[in-house]
Amino acid sequence: MKLLVTGGAGYIGSVVSALLLEAGHEVVVLDDLSTGHEDAVPAGARLVRGTLRGAAAEVLGGGGFDAVLHFAAKSLVGESVEKPGLYWDKNLGESLALLEAMRTAGVPRIVFSSTAACYGEPESTPILETDPTRPTNPYGASKLAIDTTLAEYARLHGIGGVSLRYFNVAGAYGAQGERHTVETHLIPNVLKVALGQGEAVKMFGEDYPTADGTCVRDYIHVADLGRAHLLALDACEPGTHEIFNLGSGTGNSVREVIEVCREVTGRDIPAEVHPRRPGDPAVLIASSDKIQSRLGWKPERDLRAMVSDAWTFLRSR
Ligand code: UDP
Repeated sequence: MKLLVTGGAGYIGSVVSALLLEAGHEVVVLDDLSTGHEDAVPAGARLVRGTLRGAAAEVLGGGGFDAVLHFAAKSLVGESVEKPGLYWDKNLGESLALLEAMRTAGVPRIVFSSTAACYGEPESTPILETDPTRPTNPYGASKLAIDTTLAEYARLHGIGGVSLRYFNVAGAYGAQGERHTVETHLIPNVLKVALGQGEAVKMFGEDYPTADGTCVRDYIHVADLGRAHLLALDACEPGTHEIFNLGSGTGNSVREVIEVCREVTGRDIPAEVHPRRPGDPAVLIASSDKIQSRLGWKPERDLRAMVSDAWTFLRSR
């Protein structure tokens, strides 16, 4: 297939691009390089530098595209609270421009990078796709609005759409890994301390109602996540929009993650307790039953593999 990958110079988009190329697809990456990196785009993919508003219509108008995989987005929760307008504009506004470009060019399918943040604070875990969506920040709200828009474009314009709601993505895939300028995620932050970049890991809160008092999250290896996109691509049915959660279905606490990082790196990683980070739910675990039963997807790599691959990637840089 000929595929457009928006945000293909970013962490997840670059991994998925690499997997698509390995599977024999033709990949064009559209990325404005605002947070992505030119050298993260895998060899074999063509990079077009631009925004969705600026360039999607022209690229797709060139013809022959079978589908779009849409990763381009602003994704910092804290920044979204400070600048909600930016998130609505970049996430929803640019996605609308992309959908209109798809419609005009007759591109029939889209796989969208949605998020567990659509659910907000869950009433129960594991979280099902049918659970209430009550995002607690503009980042989650803007992603949920895109899911809603996709459902409308499917119903009214016949596009086939799949939204994958990611939980905590980690790890690396060969030369593709996490390289955020502003790093908020736990595993890369812990590994940076292991590398000597930073004195101690900040553990945000130890008084949550969990077994060890720290927050529990559902970590998923970026390569397992990537594989799900290839299955989702085949599952896009014209006129329908489907949502699938994407997590491993198990939870690990902040303390457990730090312990695995100590074991994998063999380094003594100091950690200190800080106040809770505003807006962090105690436990977020996905039910991935739907994607397992409908698309035959299964997670294959555990937390140790995520940490080990992220560690190899970080030290290679
Ligand atoms: N966390 C932490 N120290 C850090 C980064 C994150 O204690 O330097 C905690 C955070 O409060 C949350 C968990 O680790 O409980 C996962 O956070 P992350 O930002 O990786 O993902 P999120 O679940 O917020 O999407």
